[in-house]
Amino acid sequence: MHLQPRLHTAEEMGAIYLVYKEWKVFFMSRYSYFSHLQCPQCGLIFSGSEVRQLCGCGSPLLARYDLEALRQVLPRPELEGRETSLWRYHELLPVERPENVVTLGEGMTPLLPLPRLGAAYDLPHLYMKDEGIIPTGSFKARGATVGLSKAKELGVRQFAMPTNGNAGAAWSLYAARAGIRASVVMPVDAPMITRGECAASGADLYLVNGLISDAGRLVAGKIASGGIYDASTLKEPYRIEGKKTMGIEIAEQFGWTLPDVILYPTGGGVGLIGIYKALSELLELGWIEGPLPRLVAVQAAGCAPIVKAWQEGASRSEFWPNSGTAAFGINVPKALGDFLVLEAVYATGGCAVAVEDEALLSEQRLAASLEGAFVCPEGAAAFAAARKLRESGWIRDGERVVVLNTGMGIKYPETIPVNAPVLQPEDALPS
Ligand SMILES: *Cc1c(COP(=O)(O)O)cnc(C)c1O
Ligand SMILES: [Zn+2]
Repeated sequence: MHLQPRLHTAEEMGAIYLVYKEWKVFFMSRYSYFSHLQCPQCGLIFSGSEVRQLCGCGSPLLARYDLEALRQVLPRPELEGRETSLWRYHELLPVERPENVVTLGEGMTPLLPLPRLGAAYDLPHLYMKDEGIIPTGSFKARGATVGLSKAKELGVRQFAMPTNGNAGAAWSLYAARAGIRASVVMPVDAPMITRGECAASGADLYLVNGLISDAGRLVAGKIASGGIYDASTLKEPYRIEGKKTMGIEIAEQFGWTLPDVILYPTGGGVGLIGIYKALSELLELGWIEGPLPRLVAVQAAGCAPIVKAWQEGASRSEFWPNSGTAAFGINVPKALGDFLVLEAVYATGGCAVAVEDEALLSEQRLAASLEGAFVCPEGAAAFAAARKLRESGWIRDGERVVVLNTGMGIKYPETIPVNAPVLQPEDALPS
């Protein structure tokens, strides 16, 4: 039989293309495009399929992705209809099998315009990314969901970590959900409720009469005895991947455009490193265009090692002696990833700002009274910094500014002194 060659009609071509596209997405797409771990200091590469802590050179490791392959499958960020948690970005997360995901529904937090606070600061385009409504009450849930999911995938049964409270609370609760045993050490001064969160989850909880750096030494001793995963900040490479989703969400919520400035209350700086990493990956994927937002590391005046280093143009910070602040989550005298924080700030033309406790506590009240936003003291520090940077002219007219509120105000009841009159039942209210 003789087959007559003929051209396809436009409809046929369209149908063939659609079938091809579906096929390509179905057969070529992977749940995760995680490829390997890399040391940002010495460049060494490690497999991501076994447990890893720090690089031999002492640096934290970073997760790398096969972005070129992902770009083939998803040339544009077409994410409509996906779940409204940070797992909607699973291609850019390190967990390879969906059955290992340990989730409480975290992520996709609101990006709220703040017109009244913005008017008070002369920032008409002021937004708050509100992490206060996330499970466990702080954005540490993002690091915990990804860190523990990956730990589960790697077969981890038990971990230990030092914490200023919120990370320990989040990791304890997610560990309970994962069926992994948690040992947590926190300063006696850490927010009281975070003890409760750890205790309720069944974690082994220890309090130390000292700072997070002292808690770190105690944990290091336990790790040295062997067999326990070290979940200290940046000593495992995956919590940063959870925290980076704040950056992806901000881009998505602005319709894959970027704000001009992002202010972040910085302790260990993992969130800031993560946001910078996320935006760099999105640039490489072609999902967004630069320039990147100027990243601002905000610290408390009572603990400002990153600010001091930035002022000196240094690439690393020095231990900050006798640190103290009401913004407990950012009381970190020396961060392991300080050089990565500083790099993110320098590379984006950002800056580092220190805020007095008095200023951040008054900003906390102002945000609540003008906008109904009961932010945590760490978030309030970032608001105080926004005010400062606008006053100095560093933030220019009409710029789009995002402040990260990293937790809920109700985790810190002691930061709001209350002076309400106590009445007897037979009294009358004043007219
Ligand atoms: C941990 C914490 C921070 C600081 O986070 P890093 O990313 O480690 O700098 C800020 N705010 C709150 C509420 C925290 O718990
Ligand atoms: Zn290295």
